[in-house]
Amino acid sequence: MKLFDLTGKVALVTGGNGGIGLAMSKAMGEAGAKIIIAGRNEEKNTQSIKILNSQNIECKSFQVDVVDENSCNKLIENVISNFGKLNILVNNAGTNIRKRPEEYELDEWKGIIDTNLISMFTCSKASFKHFKDANGGKIINIGSMHSLFGAPLGSAYSASKGGVVQLTKSLANAWAKDNVQVNAVLPGYIDTSLTRQARIDIPELQSRVEERTPVGRWGEPDDLGGIAVFLSSEGSNYITGTAIPVDGGYSING
Ligand code: NDP
Repeated sequence: MKLFDLTGKVALVTGGNGGIGLAMSKAMGEAGAKIIIAGRNEEKNTQSIKILNSQNIECKSFQVDVVDENSCNKLIENVISNFGKLNILVNNAGTNIRKRPEEYELDEWKGIIDTNLISMFTCSKASFKHFKDANGGKIINIGSMHSLFGAPLGSAYSASKGGVVQLTKSLANAWAKDNVQVNAVLPGYIDTSLTRQARIDIPELQSRVEERTPVGRWGEPDDLGGIAVFLSSEGSNYITGTAIPVDGGYSING
């Protein structure tokens, strides 16, 4: 057995059409997996498929809105009817609105929880029976440094990402006997469209992160490729329920 070989595996990445999700898709595709990327924006979906195709990765995209349970269920059905099985689910779709707690409308606050946390439950639940059919599976949930820390301008984001860690532990416990491993990845500060907006909202963020991160730089999306391959491969079969920071040391610098 090659520990990190994903040949023949089918991997679904929500929010796979940019940033961290696309980088994880590329890495798993290079390791041999067939990749399905799913996002709302069809233009970004199409563009991402071109990028993966140019690297000879077998792939397909489907439109999904992860806050809609029917849309998630349909997505999983599409994966099964097109690829015959599902082995790996990366729950990566996420969003943020930066405001002080007292300034949020309740719908905005709930929308962040729906996108970042409830969607993970919905997609995981819809995938579970197919993992059982395949005698096992892998779920990778994307958390954040805000799974660990609070944020004055991100109460909903932090609450959702803290919940990601506890949901990960609960699913890992529940499904261990079914050979489904469920782990969370906690990225540090990564240069994507999400944090480009954050640096507009909070101009000092760029230098604050550089100073606190022991390796001295922001992360690139490709810095998340290795953990995606590891946690979706046979090499991590005895690892479940963990939350692994990929942060250049940000979280261990007091
Ligand atoms: P991006 O904005 O590039 O990616 C977010 C992705 O989520 C997009 O592909 C978007 O696709 C998708 N998405 C958002 N809402 C929905 C929805 N309702 N239905 C379907 N897809 C949706 O940013 P990142 O790559 O940075 O973010 C990816 C994940 O990483 C998020 O969970 C984020 O919280 C997390 N993260 C990022 C960090 C960073 O520093 N960048 C740090 C820690 C965590 P579309 O636009 O097509 O809907």
